[in-house]
Amino acid sequence: MTKILIIEDEQTIASLERDYFELHGFSVDVCHDGIEGLALALGDDYNLIIVDLMLPGLDGFELCRRIREAKEVPILVVSARKEEIDKIRTFNLGADDYVTKPFSPSELVARAKAHLTRYERLLGKGRPEEHDEIRVRGLHIDKTSRRVYVGGDEVPITTKEFDLLVFLASHPNRVFSKTELFERIWGMDSNGDIATVTVHIRKLRSKLETDPAQPEYIETVWGAGYRFNG
Ligand code: CA
Repeated sequence: MTKILIIEDEQTIASLERDYFELHGFSVDVCHDGIEGLALALGDDYNLIIVDLMLPGLDGFELCRRIREAKEVPILVVSARKEEIDKIRTFNLGADDYVTKPFSPSELVARAKAHLTRYERLLGKGRPEEHDEIRVRGLHIDKTSRRVYVGGDEVPITTKEFDLLVFLASHPNRVFSKTELFERIWGMDSNGDIATVTVHIRKLRSKLETDPAQPEYIETVWGAGYRFNG
């Protein structure tokens, strides 16, 4: 599994980044200060590191320099600082990319993937395709091909239904409110409302469940939200 380290002191941004990368099948570690971030970056084998510039402990410039001294790993800087001079400075210190806040999480993931591919090619490490999938009882979710099977039969599924299912199935037995699910799956690029969540849950159940009235996979937790029964 592709491992990512996020060094970001703003908790909401760190969580947003983590959620998007997890949704796209990455394994994610988060830390909120520069010193701990450097220790993790040097001590563990990450495939990519995301660095904020203004951090307690060590700042992002110093992190870029110290990580690059020790490792060939893609470094993406995410910062509210928009000045050209900051971008150039981070590039000179070894950063691969610079994304300004506020950013589109989908774009961040796309850029990260592009750098991962480039590094793999650069380092000649074309890894065999990983089997990125979730299997729970009769349900089989293939994240690589974005296909879903129930009892071995493929079920047609829309993009948002798939994202919602993968998110829930990746956090088994945890309850998420409709608002949380709406924010995580539909996020910033949405004009809809949280009733969309109910509609998508209903559609997913009709596709996955033997008896949608007695759901085996996506359970309703009255007054709280939904839980994937893992
Ligand atoms: Ca910061």
